[in-house]
Amino acid sequence: MDKAKKIKEGLMLPLMEAFYTIQGEGVHSGVPAYFIRLGGCDVGCVWCDVKESWEAEKWPVIPVEEIVDRACEFSGRMVVITGGEPLMYNLGPLTALLKKKGFATHIETSGAHPFSGSFDWVCFSPKKFKVPHPSIYEKANELKVVIFHKSDFEFAEKHASLVQGNCIKSLQPEWSKANIYTESIVDYVKSHPDWKISLQTHKFMDIP
Ligand code: SF4
Repeated sequence: MDKAKKIKEGLMLPLMEAFYTIQGEGVHSGVPAYFIRLGGCDVGCVWCDVKESWEAEKWPVIPVEEIVDRACEFSGRMVVITGGEPLMYNLGPLTALLKKKGFATHIETSGAHPFSGSFDWVCFSPKKFKVPHPSIYEKANELKVVIFHKSDFEFAEKHASLVQGNCIKSLQPEWSKANIYTESIVDYVKSHPDWKISLQTHKFMDIP
């Protein structure tokens, strides 16, 4: 089977980087986690802090067995698959193998592509720059909306109306705009207590 077919079937994936660290944001903030960052994103957020991930061709294409073997070298058994936009790929084979090895599988996604893979936790972070695929709404355990502009509160509520009732909803100030929007996020959450605040604690700790 050639490489392109293996990528299409999710047997090999472009890997930008993988590292063991602490999950810095969202519901599982503070938990040690092995991050698998896949290369490739077609969403195009203006404030993206991993723009180098966008071109998939820049990154080595690795068999999923090798990706999982590397994860097994570390003590933690929580894996976060991120990107880029990881749902550009069929994540079935990677997540099946991770689960077989005893990992809890998490994903951070904009939901811009059809859902694939078997996940214990789905963090859905919709972006204005590419409309989410409808398959994400029933899968999302966590809705995390980045606040970069005052119109993002309305955007957040629009997506909140589409996720399941037990989905945890959080607002996260975009790092460079935190000094502008943190106060309004605090006010918003106080008056809309079905929301909570997510902070990028890894940036405060200066860890990856
Ligand atoms: S979806 Fe993520 S990786 Fe893609 S442009 Fe937006 S922030 Fe960057």
